[in-house]
Amino acid sequence: MKCYSHKDEDAIGSCKTCNKGICKNCSVEVSRYLYCRDCAASGHIGPAINPLSKKDPTIALLFGLVPILLSLCGLGQMYVGRVKRGLAFLFLGWIFAILNFVGLIFVVGLCITTPLTFVFIIWQAYDAYKLAKQYNDYLDKTGKPPW
Ligand SMILES: [Zn+2]
Ligand SMILES: [Zn+2]
Repeated sequence: MKCYSHKDEDAIGSCKTCNKGICKNCSVEVSRYLYCRDCAASGHIGPAINPLSKKDPTIALLFGLVPILLSLCGLGQMYVGRVKRGLAFLFLGWIFAILNFVGLIFVVGLCITTPLTFVFIIWQAYDAYKLAKQYNDYLDKTGKPPW
């Protein structure tokens, strides 16, 4: 991409407002974003609306608590965009479900598997919550999603 006003100058970026290519001399940096001189001069440099929406940690946490009702772990991780991690938790959740089923047959097993499953569910819900916060922090700092 070339600069909009210097056709033989390589652009170092594009204006956040009008998307024109801008070279070093034509760019104005305002709070980490680049703008062309026209937009900067006319004041079109309001805080750029980030097209990437944030992840709500509370929603991630709520998704993480779904397995209390259904054997579906890892939904919180999937919501945050960590699909593989979510699938790993989903798989682990099924293992716990099987263990609980076996535990039902040998009643004594329930005393071990049920508390373990509970701990696991809380852990993966909290993990989803943390990931959502991490996602937002990274997005704030870099303007890009972390994964
Ligand atoms: Zn511009
Ligand atoms: Zn230029």
